[in-house]
Amino acid sequence: MAKKRTSRCGFCGRTDEEVGLMLTGLEGMNICAECVERAHQILHEMSGKKSPKTTSTTAFDYRNMPKPQEIKEFLDGYVIGQDDAKRFLAVSVYNHYKRIGNPATEGGDVEIEKSNIIMVGATGTGKTLLARTIAKLLNVPFTIVDATVFTEAGYVGEDVESILSRLLQAADWDVRRAECGIVFIDEIDKIARKSDNPSITRDVSGEGVQQGLLKLLEGSIVNVPPKGGRKHPDQEYTQVDTRNILFICGGAFDGIEKKIAQRLNTHTVGYNNVRNTHRVDPKNLLQYVRPTDLKSFGLIPEIIGRLPVLTYLQPLDREALHRILTEPRNSLVRQYQKILALDGVELSFEPAALDFVVDKAVEYKLGARGLRSIMESIMVTAMYELPSSRKRKFVVTEDYARREFEKNNTLQAQV
Ligand code: ADP
Repeated sequence: MAKKRTSRCGFCGRTDEEVGLMLTGLEGMNICAECVERAHQILHEMSGKKSPKTTSTTAFDYRNMPKPQEIKEFLDGYVIGQDDAKRFLAVSVYNHYKRIGNPATEGGDVEIEKSNIIMVGATGTGKTLLARTIAKLLNVPFTIVDATVFTEAGYVGEDVESILSRLLQAADWDVRRAECGIVFIDEIDKIARKSDNPSITRDVSGEGVQQGLLKLLEGSIVNVPPKGGRKHPDQEYTQVDTRNILFICGGAFDGIEKKIAQRLNTHTVGYNNVRNTHRVDPKNLLQYVRPTDLKSFGLIPEIIGRLPVLTYLQPLDREALHRILTEPRNSLVRQYQKILALDGVELSFEPAALDFVVDKAVEYKLGARGLRSIMESIMVTAMYELPSSRKRKFVVTEDYARREFEKNNTLQAQV
């Protein structure tokens, strides 16, 4: 097999293995993502501290856009595993911005349809992290909203239009920039209607909200109340076109595995399907999720139709949790090392101490979300004492981790 050529950043000299994402220019010249960020920062500082957000962007220039494989490589630097979700996201984000860069001209040109995304996966498996990391790479306005705060217009709670106020805020009220932004709608499963059948009575937090969302997802001009305030007849609205806003939805869809299993079982009659059943992995049914399962869960077909890219996230096993602690560019271990390095202390962890952290995350059923609180309990004394001590090196052993965790553990209540 041909050996992959290593490319080197023309600015910092590091290889693509060291930096992850590398952009290639003319005559084989390369620049790594970190140097791009650094250069951006320098330009920003040189331009008299004027916020780059205030410069209005016109159409998105997709030619400078990283290719799907580059997007995936960038994501690999921050998110462990989840390869399927990364590939789906990379392709749809790339196609989305390609579509914005090439609007269909009048007269029957092929119009590329929008590819909003829905990710199904247990809480704490990296859905938000994926969306946030993509937005960081693209440098587009990005906002996260929780679907549970929305209620049907006229009821107590937020109207769906407030999603756009937040995006506008993230774009420093630059409407054109906001119109190319990314919105991550978390907990979309919480606005599922309670049963698969359309309701006859009003379903304030379910179907009505889905209908409201539909308007945003399908692309329309929406009147956004100023600074997210409640609607009032005298208020001046900002008009936002949602056609080019990419919506990424995420949800745990607790219990959807049952619906997937039911569907797989009912479809296993007949020769072809008997063969298929051999390949079904009962431990990870989410990977077989299909739009019809979302419908059985209570999303209305119109919403499902507007979220054409459906992908899933794997549950995180021990190995993944271990990797999350150490591998990402801003992994927890690296963060604590950096904090103490600022006081001149070199911090390291014995492998057994990290195993202990993973054990606790598994024991308390907190997944990746729990790693941070566990590490915090273990590190608090060291972070309190080391800055005033003469120690230049500090090794966290398993014993130390256990002792400190037992002393400072605040997780009891969450079990
Ligand atoms: P979700 O949106 O799926 O509920 P998040 O993306 O908010 O989960 O994850 C919570 C935290 O857990 C993240 O901030 C990150 O630190 C960590 N995390 C979760 N999944 C991963 C992963 N696959 N790789 C790296 N870190 C992860």
